[in-house]
Amino acid sequence: MKVDFYTSQREYKEKKAEFDSAIQSVIEKGSFILGNKVAEFEKAVAEYTGAKYAIGVASGTDALVLASDILGFKDGKEVITSPFTFLASASCIIRHRGKPVFVDIDEETFGIDVNKIEEKINNNTVGILPIHLFNQMSDMDKIMEISQNHNLKVLEDAAEAFGMRWKGRGETLRHSGTIGDFGVYSFFPTKTLGGYGDGGMIVTNSEELATLAKSYRVHGAAKKYHYDYIGYNSRLDALQAAVLSVKLKYIDEAINKREEVAKLYIESLSECSYIKIPKVKGDQKHVYYVFNIIAEKRDELVQYLANNGVGYSIYYPKPLHMQKAFSYLGYKEGDFPIAEKVSKEILALPIYPEITKEEVEYVCETVKNFYKGK
Ligand SMILES: *Cc1c(COP(=O)(O)O)cnc(C)c1O
Repeated sequence: MKVDFYTSQREYKEKKAEFDSAIQSVIEKGSFILGNKVAEFEKAVAEYTGAKYAIGVASGTDALVLASDILGFKDGKEVITSPFTFLASASCIIRHRGKPVFVDIDEETFGIDVNKIEEKINNNTVGILPIHLFNQMSDMDKIMEISQNHNLKVLEDAAEAFGMRWKGRGETLRHSGTIGDFGVYSFFPTKTLGGYGDGGMIVTNSEELATLAKSYRVHGAAKKYHYDYIGYNSRLDALQAAVLSVKLKYIDEAINKREEVAKLYIESLSECSYIKIPKVKGDQKHVYYVFNIIAEKRDELVQYLANNGVGYSIYYPKPLHMQKAFSYLGYKEGDFPIAEKVSKEILALPIYPEITKEEVEYVCETVKNFYKGK
């Protein structure tokens, strides 16, 4: 058997007529830049997430860059974040010469260790950039409490976190991205809400920040050809908005299916003593964008999976503080031992709504077979 780590083709086949007609209608109308399709999708995301404002941009990476620029994560100012994430969570700070200050992660959730944030705050600190990674949100109660005590801006990297919600202290559920000053989503194809190409979104509850974000995505124009800022050319493509609008209709179903797949993995793999399954912490509604395990002899295991037709991925094999591009920050191996350890043991198994039970069982059997006799 061969199991893809991810495929968009099954979903497309299931809903081909809907996707085709959504794409065709954009082409027929010829409204490619912003326009109705983007506005409709923004409205739908605002409704789904409860954000007051949603601004579609070209990618999750751009969403982070625009938001960082607007929040003043630049010119030597420090922003506290995690070294165990995708590059874009930290490069957005550096894009305008801000300085990412890393804090190690929680060993059980892989999110930023909120108990280590305060010791890194100084007069130069302007923000915190938590990442809601893989399947769960960071502790937003603690992060908002710290930010309020120290007057810091919070930019939530919710690129992976569409559908995740945080309950907080006796409050109602709040969608990822809508708790800090700005939140961003990525619509990269593999993401829980993924398009047929690049796409991203910025959300906020602040009218002032929303106005700035809308202006920054069209070169900093307040109205056409009148520029108040040096902005960007970064819009969510209308074709992507059309595809994503179709997908958003079915997002709860897709999230539930991911949950069922995760349950199958947990049931089957918990009995294997060579594997640890990450915990979900805090009062929250998690979403399995990625299903990770912590595996002994990980690098041998992935070879075995590849030989047996099982797709996999490693998020992330090298923490950011050890990347060449960040070497000028002066970090060294050993600075963030938990992130470093996890990067050597973590392994993502295939998960998407259309994966079959038989395929998940095959993945589990293959993993268990590898450890037989070890
Ligand atoms: C995917 C991702 C991004 C970037 O999103 P793109 O749309 O690919 O630019 C940023 N941060 C995290 C944590 C991500 O997983």
